[in-house]
Amino acid sequence: MSRQGRALVIGGSVAGLLAARVAADRFAEVTVFERDRLPDRPEARRGTPQAEHTHALLDRGKAILEGLFPGFFADMATYGVAPLDTAADARWYHRGAWKMRFPSGYAGYPMSRRLLEWKVRQRVAAIPGVRISDGTPVDSLLATGGRVAGIRAGGEDVRADLVIDASGRGSRLPDWLGELGYPVPPLTKIRVDLGYATRLYRRPAAPRDWALAICSGGARAGYIVPIEGGLWSATLVGYFGDHPPADDPEFLAFAGSLPVPDIHMALAEAEPLGPAARYRFAAYRWHRYERLPAFPPGVVAMGDAVCSFNPAFGQGMTTAAVESEVLAAWLRAGGTSTAAFQRRVAAVVRDVWLMATFEDFRFPETEGARPRGWPAMQWLMDRFVAASNTDRLAMTRFLQVMHMHRRPVRALADPRVLGTMLLLGEHRP
Ligand SMILES: Cc1cc2nc3c(=O)[nH]c(=O)nc-3n(C[C@H](O)[C@H](O)[C@H](O)COP(=O)(O)OP(=O)(O)OC[C@H]3O[C@@H](n4cnc5c(N)ncnc54)[C@H](O)[C@@H]3O)c2cc1C
Repeated sequence: MSRQGRALVIGGSVAGLLAARVAADRFAEVTVFERDRLPDRPEARRGTPQAEHTHALLDRGKAILEGLFPGFFADMATYGVAPLDTAADARWYHRGAWKMRFPSGYAGYPMSRRLLEWKVRQRVAAIPGVRISDGTPVDSLLATGGRVAGIRAGGEDVRADLVIDASGRGSRLPDWLGELGYPVPPLTKIRVDLGYATRLYRRPAAPRDWALAICSGGARAGYIVPIEGGLWSATLVGYFGDHPPADDPEFLAFAGSLPVPDIHMALAEAEPLGPAARYRFAAYRWHRYERLPAFPPGVVAMGDAVCSFNPAFGQGMTTAAVESEVLAAWLRAGGTSTAAFQRRVAAVVRDVWLMATFEDFRFPETEGARPRGWPAMQWLMDRFVAASNTDRLAMTRFLQVMHMHRRPVRALADPRVLGTMLLLGEHRP
């Protein structure tokens, strides 16, 4: 395909950078506008406060990144980033039971979010035709002749054939569309009032039979994840206003309140490197662009700008990666109907949303409309989770869904998995 025209991307974080990489195959010029000044090292910045917290890339996200940037993970390995098999390497207590351990072939890639974004940024900045304009907040959209024709940033108008909004959870696209006279998309919210506290520890030298420790599925959760530099990134999570504290001894005491002692014991023996960073996630937010009766040509949205999920499930970056594949396919097919693009993005989001919310809707305190047929779905999902604790095939299917290689509906439709689920006794998570 010959490269022609110009695309503009709003936001230079993971979704924006992946969008720019894909857009560069179709457009002669791609400019990424990022509000923050971007560091030339793996450093925190204001626009991505989540970067202080544990981030893992799921198996599908890894495969997509490696396809977009060949050799990316060989480079990451030089920083000490290694794949961790979610079954073999994890000591995982989930909803009152230990998950079975075996080499599953499904790995997550834990690393600091700062390192990942910095490395992706380096690769994108090196693509001919791509420019990253940092310290440049986008203020509004330009529209002419019934289509979006560019953006206004720093008092200047910049014209383009396509604008891609990847400005994250605080995206102003709904307001901008309203200002142009387009309908504002409905917003679906699920309120969980989650608190996050993440602290770095020097990883102890003593050998353990796990590399990754997870205690999840309750209203308090904890994670210990190895990251580059010989460190542990330890995250504690509490729902419904029961937020973990940043300082000792309360941070450790919160770890000690988890249903199993493993995370507390490991942290009590490790050396903390400073206080914890905190983050509050009040609610899932999904802008339903796919439901709009009209969506202007010339602009699309992706990443957290469309939907942000409970971060504890580690899905956001992989979702952005899958959406970048959707963007690539849409551009190859001509990239004309922006409404069609948003429908395809919504199809990606729907599965991820289902996986995340099925965990959170179990809590009566979770505020938001349960989907139609919820009790039956919940019963099935509970059985699926229970089967995955003891049955290798069910666990493999569970991991395939979790790592976004298989749709949840397809995993449940497997007669062998269904058989195991139905043979189980009553499961009480
Ligand atoms: C606590 C926490 C933990 C998480 N853990 C994981 C994990 O383990 N695994 C995982 O996959 N995901 C995780 N996520 C989600 C993940 O961080 C995001 O989904 C991912 O970064 C994709 O986000 P994004 O690029 O769409 O938006 P963001 O990362 O929010 O980036 C938006 C960018 O747009 C810029 N911007 C905003 N407005 C403007 C403007 N007007 N003009 C120009 N620039 C603008 C911002 O400065 C920022 O750089 C976590 C999230 C949180 C909050």
